[in-house]
Amino acid sequence: MAGTRTFTMIKPDAFEAGNAGAILKMIEAAGFKIVALKATRLSPELAGKFYEVHSERPFYKDLCNYMSSGAIIAAILEKENAVEDFRNLIGATNPANAAEGTIRKIFAKSIEANAVHGSDSDENAAIEGSFFFNQYERVG
Ligand code: GDP
Repeated sequence: MAGTRTFTMIKPDAFEAGNAGAILKMIEAAGFKIVALKATRLSPELAGKFYEVHSERPFYKDLCNYMSSGAIIAAILEKENAVEDFRNLIGATNPANAAEGTIRKIFAKSIEANAVHGSDSDENAAIEGSFFFNQYERVG
């Protein structure tokens, strides 16, 4: 059975532009419940750790610099079929290819500064949620 939790970040471009509230509103309107939430800022080292799976990709260093360039919001979200439904809500990695009405289509600036992160599997959702939140920082 598909898992009921996913992990998201509102990335520095969207936070800086003042779009965090509008994005959280879309997330709740789509039926996701907030289980954990914090505003924080990643160091380049922590960003590097979070995106370690991409360490061989040519954009890795740029991505780590970008993700540590400003504040973010990290959140754990709950819904049936959470990972897949959330990926559908945020749209394609490159906003130019994202479907109309998706969060990235509306708010993303570029393939890198693409407004939000969404876990790509149940396993990564659990790992990424635990990267940011301990058990006392979750409501369920
Ligand atoms: P996601 O699962 O849709 O977030 O996409 P990926 O896991 O493939 O990539 C992780 C993140 O790296 C993306 O969300 C972007 O912020 C960034 N990224 C992906 N592809 C590129 C690229 O070709 N160039 C740059 N500069 N950044 C990229």
